[in-house]
Amino acid sequence: MTADRADIAVVGAGIIGCMVAREAGAREPAASVVLLDRDSAGQGASRRSAGLHIPRGATPRVRRMTRHSQAYYERLLDEEPALPIRPLQMRVVTREADADRIRADYLDPGGPAPVGEPPGDPLRLPAGYTAWHTGGSQYADVPALVQRLTARLRPGVAVREGVAVLRVVPQRDGVLLHLSTGGTLSAGRVVLAPGPWTAAPAWRDAVAPEGVRVKKVVALHIDLPCSAADPVTVLHDEDAFLLPLHHRNHWLFSYTCREWDVDPDALAPGPSPGHLAQARELLRRYAPAAAERCTAGRVFCDAYSPGREPLVRSVGGDTRLVFAGAAGGSGYRLAPAIASEAADLLEPSTALRSHT
Ligand SMILES: Cc1cc2nc3c(=O)[nH]c(=O)nc-3n(C[C@H](O)[C@H](O)[C@H](O)COP(=O)(O)OP(=O)(O)OC[C@H]3O[C@@H](n4cnc5c(N)ncnc54)[C@H](O)[C@@H]3O)c2cc1C
Repeated sequence: MTADRADIAVVGAGIIGCMVAREAGAREPAASVVLLDRDSAGQGASRRSAGLHIPRGATPRVRRMTRHSQAYYERLLDEEPALPIRPLQMRVVTREADADRIRADYLDPGGPAPVGEPPGDPLRLPAGYTAWHTGGSQYADVPALVQRLTARLRPGVAVREGVAVLRVVPQRDGVLLHLSTGGTLSAGRVVLAPGPWTAAPAWRDAVAPEGVRVKKVVALHIDLPCSAADPVTVLHDEDAFLLPLHHRNHWLFSYTCREWDVDPDALAPGPSPGHLAQARELLRRYAPAAAERCTAGRVFCDAYSPGREPLVRSVGGDTRLVFAGAAGGSGYRLAPAIASEAADLLEPSTALRSHT
């Protein structure tokens, strides 16, 4: 689509922008929607995501978002079972003394389940720790999901790839986007979903989200086979998880890396010796067999808000311009709820009517 006007423009076709385009398109069936990306859909942080949905929320808002997103993904999978979303068992490892308190943050905590040691299970509980199972977990091939969903957007929702937004200029009757093509797009309303590219001049000039910082996220491959019955294991104290990638027959270990203020365009793709050393040190405590098989992985980054909750807000009190993101390493699992909150803020306006 080459139109230079749209009712709604969504900037960024990661999992969040893709969900916003679906949601806004569904709520306003007559609106023209354009989803723009400087790259291809699903190639930002979403491309490297481990794609794990953990049915947990540490605050009331995040619990609501988790519930909404979980139900949304379950519906999607019911409608199209071939989507790359795979339900899986989950268990949480905590200190015995903290178990009841932490369990309360989960939507569907089951009773304590014995953690056996079936062949292949890499978990070895440290002394004083326990594990329990919960329902509702799944993981997705996030880039594949984004591509499938963007290909199925309703007629009237256009995707423009390879087009960067260079400037965002609010105007009396809408918002003007200056594009890398040399042209402009005039939109009634705009949602900015730039993932970790929050410091780009386009946003710094007009809409820099206050306090948002970009942190490295690391997920390491563990070269051990897994079986269909293996659960994902969340190491609560470490803010880490051990995920069996059933479709690839190996494991992924995601741990919290504390490298802040990184530039997404300047990152080396693989782990450094330091990342591998940190991961192995943790794994030796919980899954010693996995520690020595942790050799490679994916390294990228994500945007984090000061309060560690996703940021969905009108920019400068202007409901024509909404920022949606800073999901802090949970952008896959919370994307449907982030999109719903963004669409709530995008009230139809006189600007919309002027574009139809
Ligand atoms: C290694 C790793 C593991 C992760 N594991 C999990 C997990 O298990 N579970 C989970 O929920 N989350 C996980 N995350 C986090 C999750 O992947 C992100 O929160 C999510 O992908 C963010 O989606 P997004 O749409 O905001 O960003 P992105 O996917 O980065 O999309 C933003 C898009 O905006 C585009 N863009 C930026 N600036 C412009 C511009 N000026 N003009 C046009 N387009 C622009 C980019 O090209 C990009 O495609 C992980 C992240 C990483 C890196």
